Amino acid sequence: MEKIKIITTVKDMHEFSRQAKKAGKRIGFVPTMGYLHEGHMSLIRKAKELSDIVVVSVFVNPTQFGPNEDFAKYPRDFERDKKLIEDNGGTAIFYPTPEEIYGQNFQTYVSLDELPKTLEGEFRPSHFKGVTTVVSILFNCVSPDVAVFGQKDAQQAAIIKRMTKDLKFDCEIIEAPIVREQDGLALSSRNIYLSASERKDALVLSKSLFHADALIKKGEKSAANLIQEMTAIINSVATSKLDYVSIVDAETFVAVKTLEKGKEYYFLIACRIGATRLIDNMKITL
Ligand code: AMP
Repeated sequence: MEKIKIITTVKDMHEFSRQAKKAGKRIGFVPTMGYLHEGHMSLIRKAKELSDIVVVSVFVNPTQFGPNEDFAKYPRDFERDKKLIEDNGGTAIFYPTPEEIYGQNFQTYVSLDELPKTLEGEFRPSHFKGVTTVVSILFNCVSPDVAVFGQKDAQQAAIIKRMTKDLKFDCEIIEAPIVREQDGLALSSRNIYLSASERKDALVLSKSLFHADALIKKGEKSAANLIQEMTAIINSVATSKLDYVSIVDAETFVAVKTLEKGKEYYFLIACRIGATRLIDNMKITL
């Protein structure tokens, strides 16, 4: 098997993509912060289905972490990531340092007006500005024809879709479903922080989503009732501390009061289990 190409500079990334385009290749792109799991793998395989060449970026982006968040201790294991990307059909890894991306005297940021104000944006005020800035930079480095993002970060995916349209990036955005453990826990690089007992408690996130789904199937239409039931499940373990449970219109991300037939919604949760902040969600079509 041809060895995977590791690209660490912006100049080499530009050159790689230029050559790929010249050869008539369609470039698929999967941006990640590394410490990969099966959720990331599913995005890489999806990108492979949709393109000739798959570039995966591994970059723990400092600008999307708040001052008291886990940037320094975010898990990193490049050798393991490299093997996983290779085994799942990746062609190249873009693996720049923060200095390569932000250099000296960096001062240009990309931010949206409305979508980042609520939910994750409310609890992590500078987070999405960091995400949209780095994704813009990565798009300019990689020049992808298609990029795959996970529904795991549903608000992020909506923001990236909006930004891509607004800034006229010539790139299709695909959203891939959430990959879960057998017992329901959504895969996340941060699950490594959980102790054995916290790992059990963390099931309250997916349990509350599945419970809401069951209630809807029985005819429940009130967002307040559904949120109350979900909140009770999350609060049933002593280690949990809820940031939000919210039901939003899947297009606008605006919170709704009553669910209507034929419409699509996201049920979204963010909560701490011990010291670890987890998010999960479910897309529901009525
Ligand atoms: P991260 O490395 O956490 O920045 O995630 C990189 C990409 O993988 C993002 O588009 C995430 O939404 C996606 N992702 C993370 N966890 C999962 C999961 N459990 N299932 C599907 N995609 C995921």
